[in-house]
Amino acid sequence: MYLLIHTHILLFSEESSPGPSGEKYGLKYINRKGGTVLLYAGYQFTKKCTYKSGAIVWECHLRKKTKCTGTITIRQNQILKETSHSCTPDFDKNLLECYMDKCKKKIVSSYEPAISDFNAKYHKILKKLEKLEGE
Ligand SMILES: [Zn+2]
Repeated sequence: MYLLIHTHILLFSEESSPGPSGEKYGLKYINRKGGTVLLYAGYQFTKKCTYKSGAIVWECHLRKKTKCTGTITIRQNQILKETSHSCTPDFDKNLLECYMDKCKKKIVSSYEPAISDFNAKYHKILKKLEKLEGE
């Protein structure tokens, strides 16, 4: 339950503070299989490393599959460096990924009433138990 609420808060805070410059570049971050995937220009990237300067190097997610060496270096949503890809960008796939991610976020959001409902019931039961113990 804690995890679910925590995830919800994370997603919410991410939505309420979109990076304006990141959007300008069309940088999109989605959550997949517990990790963050960066969508940009039809390519998908996974985090490779973070420099001391705070710059993050993202590498093409097809690196292992097709040995694509495309990378992108980003600091505070600003693209510092890009290296070219040997793979083909797939804009439709990235659009679909964005859509799926939005759907997932909606599903998480819809859990919220369920959580408060659960909490209300839980407190009622607790009070009843306390009463029983007092008698
Ligand atoms: Zn690539």
